[in-house]
Amino acid sequence: MSFSNLGLSDEIIRAVTELGYTKPTPIQMQAIPAVLSGSDLLAGAQTGTGKTAGFTLPLLHRLSSDKNFKDTSNGYSPIRALILTPTRELAAQVEESAREYGKYLNLNTMAMFGGVSINPQKRLLKGRVDILVATPGRLLDHVQQGTLNLSHIEVLVLDEADRMLDMGFIRDIRRILSLLPKQRQNLLFFATFSDKIKALAAGLLNHPKMIEVARRNVTAETVAQKVYKVDRDRKRQLLAHLIREDNWYQVLVFTRTKYGADRLVKQLGDERIQALAIHGNKSQTARTHALAKFKNGSLQVLVATDIAARGLDISELPHVVNFDLPNVPEDYVHRIGRTGRAGASGEAISLVSADEYPLLRDIEKLIEQRLPFEVIAAIGANAHSKPEAIPDASKHRPRPQGDKRPARSTAKASPQTSGKQSAARTIIGDKNSSGSSSGLRRRVKRDR
Ligand code: AMP
Repeated sequence: MSFSNLGLSDEIIRAVTELGYTKPTPIQMQAIPAVLSGSDLLAGAQTGTGKTAGFTLPLLHRLSSDKNFKDTSNGYSPIRALILTPTRELAAQVEESAREYGKYLNLNTMAMFGGVSINPQKRLLKGRVDILVATPGRLLDHVQQGTLNLSHIEVLVLDEADRMLDMGFIRDIRRILSLLPKQRQNLLFFATFSDKIKALAAGLLNHPKMIEVARRNVTAETVAQKVYKVDRDRKRQLLAHLIREDNWYQVLVFTRTKYGADRLVKQLGDERIQALAIHGNKSQTARTHALAKFKNGSLQVLVATDIAARGLDISELPHVVNFDLPNVPEDYVHRIGRTGRAGASGEAISLVSADEYPLLRDIEKLIEQRLPFEVIAAIGANAHSKPEAIPDASKHRPRPQGDKRPARSTAKASPQTSGKQSAARTIIGDKNSSGSSSGLRRRVKRDR
């Protein structure tokens, strides 16, 4: 199967070929014909599957080959396609993809999001915009100010719709829907299915085609997942140690709070590890700057709250670290989906303290998989202290039905459902006299 078999125009095929795409991904094989047929679509796609091209390529084809299209507004064409995304970063990324895929077509794209001045956006809207990629809040600001006309939208795409609902955008989405023409094509993309998505789809879509390329809530097989059980106050030291000892570069680290992200950046800086943070309290300029540096490889560590977990495409990102586990188990799947994208392999490491064991249990339940773990027994500044064993999470966890084996003892690895040997070991954190983490010693203890 090639892109030309899917009926896309030569201009589009030329653009994707230049980007190195040789054949469509599974979501593209299904989504492209469905969108070209003109029907509504409900599509579940795991992160990193190529879903952006899955809806953008047929959208570009449809808009560029509509010979009946008439310019009905005064002097310039009206906006014909609207793509809504939950975050500014994703809006920028999708618009950039649409621009690249459509570079040989006579179509204009525009990204619209908050946190930056509205005036340049107003100026752009006075010119020709065919495809608008927007976050809901700023879009409604433009509507309020009378600078945006959505009455000619032919295609609506809700990208990462589940995230938009999680972020409380449902009222904004309803308002935006009320501004669109009744007759239009609707494409709804979600990463994690939920009852909320079901309800949104029921109200929005008209006899949709349904596609789902990956099982719900599963993690990409190309991502090696690992858990380090460690005292909360040792996490920073362990992270710095891993980054240094394993020579990690391009590490995306997730924290639960904005404050935690800022604090970690400072602490890593104290260890001479270059890091920047992106989260909702940072200016858009700072967010864009940090992300650009991280993407082009000139920033070693990017610390992010879940704002960055969805949709961001950083090619061949090798390491994702959960410094804190997310409160919502689905976010774990999205966070680690930043690595192992488009078939590349990656590593996702979670630093889990005892208070997070219930969260770990929820994650394992969601992904239907027990995660291999290593226990990090830390010694305090006093070199004579004994290693502290950290209680085994499997003791807190309901045992699988039918599991008759005796309960396992403390500090041993939980059995993996795959039956592979578990990777339990103990890393002894032995602070050197200066108190830095550089003196960490590893002791490997196989438990069977
Ligand atoms: P997405 O899931 O849309 O964020 O895409 C993930 C990554 O896959 C992006 O870097 C795309 O450039 C890349 N990609 C999308 N489609 C293809 C394809 N057919 N062949 C190779 N790479 C692709």
